[in-house]
Amino acid sequence: SSLQSELAAAIRTIENYPKPGILFRDITTLLGNPRAFRRSIDELVHPYAGTKIDKVAGIEARGFILGGAVAHQLSSGFVPIRKKGKLPHDTVRIAYSLEYGVDEMEMHRDAITPGEKVIVIDDLIATGGTAEGACKLLKQMGADIVAACFVIDLPDLGGRKKLEALGVEVRTLVE
Ligand code: IMP
Repeated sequence: SSLQSELAAAIRTIENYPKPGILFRDITTLLGNPRAFRRSIDELVHPYAGTKIDKVAGIEARGFILGGAVAHQLSSGFVPIRKKGKLPHDTVRIAYSLEYGVDEMEMHRDAITPGEKVIVIDDLIATGGTAEGACKLLKQMGADIVAACFVIDLPDLGGRKKLEALGVEVRTLVE
């Protein structure tokens, strides 16, 4: 569609970052483009306009930028999901798999009230390990995950299927 091609054109691709052989999709150019940024947020938001979304959960760090704008548009609260050791109050923590190895992410224990409707936001889904960790953490706290939404999908890496296996609906704007 024209939206897909406009957003794709606004995303910069960097070769050999952060390691040789990796093609990094850089959304800072999309964020810096007023029209592409607005259209991305509008597209992420529109399925939920008029429905009650209690919280938007953003995954550190680019999920904070997108998720903050989405939460504002939906009049929802915002919940940061962070790398371990960054949040000041009592947290729940989960290990998640990266391409090489594992890491841990956290959210505040009191960030979600059981039954709250939550949307998860990040810039990109690759293997889905990061978003799967976030969704498991939210489910442990009793969240009702309405969807997980990303600007970019790298479909060959299978992230969508990983989330769908958890029963989470996945929405992406650009492949
Ligand atoms: P996954 O866990 O394999 O799905 O990787 C997704 C996570 O890594 C997200 O938090 C992304 O922000 C980040 N990520 C992986 N590849 C890229 C990329 O090419 N551009 C930007 N972020 C990426």
